[in-house]
Amino acid sequence: MQADFRVRQAAAVCYKTAVMTDFPLDMPTLEPGWVWLVGTGPGDPGLLTLHAWNAMQQADVVVYDALVGDPIMDIVRADTVIEFAGKRGGKPSVRQPDISRRLVELAKAGKRVVRLKGGDPFVFGRGGEEALALVAAGVPFRVVPGISAGIGALAYAGIPLTHRATNAAVTFITGHAADGEMPRALDWTAIASGSPVIVLYMAMAHLAAIAGRLQAGGRAADEPVAVISAATTPAQVVLETTLGACAAEANTAGVGPPAIVVVGDVVRLRAGLDWLGAAAGKALDANPL
Ligand code: SAH
Repeated sequence: MQADFRVRQAAAVCYKTAVMTDFPLDMPTLEPGWVWLVGTGPGDPGLLTLHAWNAMQQADVVVYDALVGDPIMDIVRADTVIEFAGKRGGKPSVRQPDISRRLVELAKAGKRVVRLKGGDPFVFGRGGEEALALVAAGVPFRVVPGISAGIGALAYAGIPLTHRATNAAVTFITGHAADGEMPRALDWTAIASGSPVIVLYMAMAHLAAIAGRLQAGGRAADEPVAVISAATTPAQVVLETTLGACAAEANTAGVGPPAIVVVGDVVRLRAGLDWLGAAAGKALDANPL
């Protein structure tokens, strides 16, 4: 398969351009009437999977979320119809049932539909809801996993998700329930005592309250925390802080969504593993713990 594919490699010190010519794999065909739910990863287009790229080459219509940035949308072919399904400019977001209905409608019209979602479609992305709507309507679909922000952001911040000396478990949590409030049904005390590393999505609005619950559950105020904003994009910012100070410091520093918050001793490893920082001249410490 020949491909004329221009990739802009974000999050490096500068953009680089590469042209992929010989594509060495047989990839699946996106048939008319199908919907592929495709994760695009956290932002750097270089983190797209080959299946994601293959999907974008074949789509008649791409329905995309706000978290799918321009460098990724630039890869969509010029003759593909693109439909935005996110929140923009203070307007109310498109309702989830409307998005699902639209996917069904496009598929039933015989389109080859790609639903692009940030990160992984099945991680806090409502991909399951959309897929169930397709099942209910008898629309065939495929799921293409992506690198979830809770994984990609840590990698680009130089923070391992697990490290033998610090944690044998990690917990992914959304800081934002369906009603917009902090998820009250969660047992924060159990999480505080049971999970050495906690990775929070969508947590900025309720960060002070979440940090308070974790401290009430026994976590120390001086426990290391990293807030990673716009991860893997040229706008990536990493704030190293503590559980006691994270909400106030993120506010003061203007570090806002989209952001991943990491709580736990793995954050200390950044002193040794901040490879992006090292590329910009930062000295790394081989014994950060
Ligand atoms: N399905 C997505 C998550 C969608 S929920 C995934 O697997 O990554 C949206 C949340 O994801 C944001 O509020 C933020 O917490 C996180 N997120 C997505 N992209 C991000 C990025 N580039 N940097 C930091 N956080 C990001």
